[in-house]
This record gives sequence, C-alpha cells and structure tokens, in this order.
Amino acid sequence: MTGWLAVVGLGPGDPALITPEVTATLAEATDLVGYGPYVARVPDRPGLCRHVSENREELARARFAFELAAGGRRVVVVSSGDPGVFAMAAAIFEALEHGPDSWRALDIRVLPGITAMLAAAARVGAPLGSDFCAINLSDNLKPWALIERRLSLAVAADFAIALYNPRSLARPEGFARALELLRHACERERVVIFARAVTTPEEAITVTTVADARPEMADMRTIVLVGSSRTRLVPRAGGAPPVVYTPRSTP
Ligand code: SAH
Repeated sequence: MTGWLAVVGLGPGDPALITPEVTATLAEATDLVGYGPYVARVPDRPGLCRHVSENREELARARFAFELAAGGRRVVVVSSGDPGVFAMAAAIFEALEHGPDSWRALDIRVLPGITAMLAAAARVGAPLGSDFCAINLSDNLKPWALIERRLSLAVAADFAIALYNPRSLARPEGFARALELLRHACERERVVIFARAVTTPEEAITVTTVADARPEMADMRTIVLVGSSRTRLVPRAGGAPPVVYTPRSTP
C-alpha cells in the first residue's frame, strides 16, 4: 500500500467553508493527526484512526505523521483555517528537512483553507482591500522584540494588519503592549476590529478604535484586524452595522 501525507485546512469553523478538495481527501484518509479540537471537527467514520496531540507538540506531531505515511498509511494532518498560516504545513516541512531521506520520496500535499483573517474581513466588509500584512503575536517561536519591531514597521508602512494569536492565558501582557504601541503610532480613530470565533455559533465581532481598544477584548479565539490610515466606516440604513473597508487606491 502506498502511503501519503496531506496537510489540510479546515477553515475558520463553519463546515460549509471546508473546500470540496479537503472533504474528498478526508474521505480517503486512514489516519487523522492534529490538535484535539481540530481533529474533533472531522466527523467520525469506520476505519478512520484519530491521533490527538497537544497544541504545542507540532514537530513531534509532524514526525509521527511522516512515520505513519512511510508505513503505508493515508495520513491527513489537520489545521484550522489555512495550514500554511501559523499552522502545521511549515512544521511538516521542518520535519522533512531534518528527517530521514526516505521521507522525501513520499507523496506530500498541502491543501489550502480559508484563513481567519479573510473570514473575519468578509464579515465586516473589506478592511484588507488594499495592502496588508499578518503578524503572529505569539512569542513561543520568536523574541517579543521582533514582534514589536514588525508591528511598528507595518504601521509605518501604512499596512492594514491582521494579528493572529493576540492573547493567551500564558501571555496576557503581550497584547497590552501591542495596543500601547498602536496608541503611540496611530491616530485615535484608527479602526480596530475584534473578531472572535468567526463563522461558529460563538461568533462575536466588535468594531472599535485604537483609543477604545482594550486588551480584554481579545482571547485565543480572536483575530484582531487593525485598519490602515485609509480604512473607513460606511453607515448603513435600517440598524445594520456600518461596513468597514479600505479603499483600493492611495492618492
Ligand atoms: N491556521 C489558522 C491560524 C492558526 S493560529 C488560520 O489560518 O486561520 C490561531 C489563531 O488564529 C487564533 O489565536 C486566532 O487569532 C485565529 N483564529 C483561528 N480561527 C479563528 C476564528 N474562527 N475566528 C477568529 N480567529 C480565529
């Protein structure tokens, strides 16, 4: 039996946002590997083995997936959103680069998904409608000083900015410092969007400003979108929330 390895994105939460390509690949898998809550999003069926691990064990999980595939299993490694955005795809290739040569002959595929920043942006309008960037605020894998430097340079370049992993119980102070930096670098009215658990039943979206943004508005299920200096609100009729968008052009 020929094994293979697919690293797939399950999208932001709503099953309707899983691509048909990912659904078809899941239907052929013998083994599912990933962080518990993501593995739990795939419906059970006979013949599917589930291998659940802790969130921080990415490299060990990647090596384990390679061992299964090398042994002839059809392995799907699941990520939320897109597997290439602060998720398992890079961990898989790190394991490949440093692993046994035999792994390099395997059939390895990365199947994209809808990443959180795009799902969140779509909910409010088009805040990422011009140039933008994404920053992971977790300092598990890089120094905090580098995060602050990238954030200040992104503001200086007038990007709209998506902030992934803004705040966890283990690192509550980082996001407060990031907001402090934004308060110094941006005008008070700069648009800030807190989008929590987008496309799930717990979805909550708050559109506010840099002046009114508070650290407690974010948790690990929140993505924070910071507008560029051009990002604006368009009021709507009939009690509908305003649309947030960034114009395509800069004069
Ligand atoms: N690979 C994922 C990101 C993993 S990092 C993706 O492409 O979306 C985990 C972070 O993603 C969370 O801390 C949060 O900032 C963001 N995130 C993931 N799913 C989300 C959702 N449904 N709503 C809001 N933010 C989400």
